[in-house]
Parts: sequence; structure tokens; C-alpha cells
Amino acid sequence: MTLGFDALPGNDALKASLRTALDRRFPQAVLLSGPDGSGKSALAQALAAALLCTGPAPRPCGACASCHKISHGTHPDLIVVDEGEGEIKVETARRIRDEAAVLPNDGDRKVFIILHADRMNPSAQNALLKVLEEPPRYVFFLLASSQPGALLQTIRSRCTAYQLAPPSTAQLPDDPALLESARAFLRALTTGDEYGMLLGANGFSKLAKAPFREAMSLLQAAVRDAALSLAGTQPLVPSLAAETRALAGALTADKLIALYDHLALLSRRAEGNASAPIQCAVLAAGAYSICHPPRSHSRRAGNRNGGTHI
Ligand SMILES: [Zn+2]
Repeated sequence: MTLGFDALPGNDALKASLRTALDRRFPQAVLLSGPDGSGKSALAQALAAALLCTGPAPRPCGACASCHKISHGTHPDLIVVDEGEGEIKVETARRIRDEAAVLPNDGDRKVFIILHADRMNPSAQNALLKVLEEPPRYVFFLLASSQPGALLQTIRSRCTAYQLAPPSTAQLPDDPALLESARAFLRALTTGDEYGMLLGANGFSKLAKAPFREAMSLLQAAVRDAALSLAGTQPLVPSLAAETRALAGALTADKLIALYDHLALLSRRAEGNASAPIQCAVLAAGAYSICHPPRSHSRRAGNRNGGTHI
């Protein structure tokens, strides 16, 4: 595992402001938000390492006993809550609260990372409120979420928020076969060619979990480029610029946003055990019904109530 902020590409302004905060008085409750694949987990690990590091600045030094334990996942004062797709229940929040009341084992600080923090149900969020509000002086909470809006306002207001940028081109796959599938898929989206969408999506069907998520990130970045193309924003995927421009001309902003959310959902499902071929069918079917709902499609002009809207 790479410690430190270099593990996270891009986000230079954010990293600079976090370094400054680390040198001064770091907030005890932090909310890291950003889309899937933007590096929230890596950043939380780097921050935890920096907070617990006992070596010389710049921290994390990567060489002290604390840094060693963190990179081996054995630091007793770093507690990571990661329920993945599952709900974070009130029992877990109570355990966090109880654990926060116990003094650190090794040094003078204790760090809790709560990944997918928006998966805390309301009871869990309420159970955590008080300790977030008045944490023991040695405790730091790092919450990460791709949907911070799903957190209670009371939780959000107790955290200092840091926003990560979407995955940069540096993290996006540049495999020519993947790019070609993405290109075919985007072209089919633009023209409303349902079969073409299936064929394009099928190009991702043999991918393992991690590359599948990367492929979804690539498509997400392309859709984001389409949505922002009129604003003159620098594209994340210049190699798909022609396709994203055409897509921007064919779809409304609402549809592009719905498409972006659909891709984010597939990316999250890929963290579980969803099979890639089924995910690809869902990708094509969902994208088709978002972009070309039956009532606006000439072949199905008579079927005004049919079709699935995601
Ligand atoms: Zn260190």
C-alpha cells in the first residue's frame, strides 16, 4: 500500500489545503465527498497515516513504526468501517462511539475512517451525532461518501467538508479495446441504436471486477464531458471528444445526468458480486430507456406507457 498524498492523482489544491490543515489544527470530523473512483478511500488512509505518523514532517513519513503498522493494516488506533454495499447499522455506530471513549493504544491519537458513510441508516447517524459533536480530544473521524446528500444535515454540519474531483484522465484506462467499446457504446447512444448499445456494452462483459469499474469510470467521464462540453471545460477523455460532442448534441442535460447516475450505480454494484455479462445487459437496457424513452421513439410511438424509466 502506498502511504501519503502522492497515491491520489490530481486534486492538487485539495491536497495543499489538507497539508496546511495538518500542520495547524486538523478538524476532528471530516467529510470527504466525491464520485466513485475519485480516491476518497486512498485519501482517508493518507490522512489517517499523517495524523498517526510519529516520524518527521512531511507526514506521513512512511518509515516510522506507526506508518509501518498502517501499511500492514495492523495499527490498533486506526479503525476502518467498511460495510461495502451493506447498511451501517446502529450497533456499528454504538461500537464506534464506545471505542472512541477508550484511550489510544499506541500514541496520543485515534482515527476512525467510515467509508460509504451515507450507508449509515438514520438511527446509526443519530447514534454517532453526539460523539461527532464533542469528540474526545484524541479522536479524529474521517467520513467518506459519494452521496453526501444522503447524510443527515446534522451530521454534515458537524464535519469539515472536502470535495474530491472526479477521476482524472490519469486514472482512466487507455486500453485501445476498451476505448473502442466505449466509442461504439457512445455512438449508439447518440443515434438511439439499441442493438449497437448492446454490442458496445458487450465489450465490457469479460472484464473482472476492477477493470469493469474502470470501464464504468471511463464512460462516466465521457458523459460528464458531454454534459460540460458547452461550458468549454477541459475534457477528461480527449480521445473520445468527437463522441462526447455528438452525445451532447443528441441528449438533454437531464438525460446526461440520469445516465451518469446509472453508470455510478453499476460501478457500485460491481463492488459486490454482480456478474459482468448481466451488468452489461443492465448497462445497455438502462441507458436505452434513459436516453430514448419509448414514447419519443418512432418504432414504439404507440406504446406510450411502456418502457422502464430508471
Ligand atoms: Zn511515519
